[in-house]
Amino acid sequence: MNDIIIIGGGIAGLTAGMYAKRGGMETLLFEKMFVGGQAATTYSIENYPGFIEPISGPDFAMRMEEHARKFGLEIFYDEVKEVVVDGKIKKVITDNKEYETKTIILAMGASPKMLGLEKEEQFRGRGVSYCATCDGTFYKDKVTAVVGGGDTAVEDAMFLAQYASKVYLIHRRDQLRASKILQDRILAHPKIEILWDTVVESIVGEEEVEGITVKNLKTEERSQLELDGFFIAIGIQPNSELVKGKIQMSDDGFVLAGETMATNVPGVFVVGDLRYKQIWQLVTAASDGAVGTLSAQRYIMENFE
Ligand code: NAP
Repeated sequence: MNDIIIIGGGIAGLTAGMYAKRGGMETLLFEKMFVGGQAATTYSIENYPGFIEPISGPDFAMRMEEHARKFGLEIFYDEVKEVVVDGKIKKVITDNKEYETKTIILAMGASPKMLGLEKEEQFRGRGVSYCATCDGTFYKDKVTAVVGGGDTAVEDAMFLAQYASKVYLIHRRDQLRASKILQDRILAHPKIEILWDTVVESIVGEEEVEGITVKNLKTEERSQLELDGFFIAIGIQPNSELVKGKIQMSDDGFVLAGETMATNVPGVFVVGDLRYKQIWQLVTAASDGAVGTLSAQRYIMENFE
């Protein structure tokens, strides 16, 4: 019988796993793709305490994984297809096997939101991308645009500007949401042009992205931009499909939990980007992971021993 099964191997899940194994709990972690989650697709991390020199996302994720494995965490690369959360003993079901556990920590994270434009899905991988650090190097000396005004959009634009000849940052308001330090950097960047109060109306191209049409919301003026790459960074949506209808969520699908990470279902905890909250940072994801495991441990002591 497992004490804790963690679903998702991002920063929150890996931290939960490290704490669990270090605390002597029988623990498994399931990850369907690659560990590190969204952090692993980040170009450079400069705001994780203790890392004075910037570290790349993949390196950071590798170190987190190594740290968790050092305490004996077993990571299964398998997709969880179903969870059974009612009853004292929970079940985690993959294609091949069913696992029993006293507690579950949900750490499935979040994925980039789509804009919802026609051709967006069709041209994904053919000029449309949600990950500048994954695809940015394909656009050497090309023209690209990023839509969004948050930290991700600004970081993506600056990453792309290392390769592209020109980067447009398209934002629907006249003020960025991104942190001040990033705003200062982007406003001073010679290769980046910000299109304020502007929305994207359509993607232009036959087989791949050739451009986009945009509209200025203040002047109502429409224009077309010729582009090779179109990057979308307009926020995140929760990967909560697995527990839909089984656990309390916000209207937009983030799982609700308080300070202890306990959901409304006893023995089920939620950590990281999947949890309904206001601040999404690596350091808060790691913090959630630690708190989630310690709360699960306490729950086990109170209910099983
Ligand atoms: P975010 O902070 O939610 O920003 C999303 C941006 O996209 C906003 O500027 C928003 O505009 C715009 N937007 C949303 N829907 C749109 C639509 N349909 N059409 C056009 N624009 C739209 O998302 P994020 O940048 O992905 O960041 C997510 C979280 O991760 C944040 O908490 C962020 O601080 C954190 N993060 C931190 C770092 C770092 O610390 N270095 C790096 C990356 C991300 P409005 O502003 O008008 O709402």
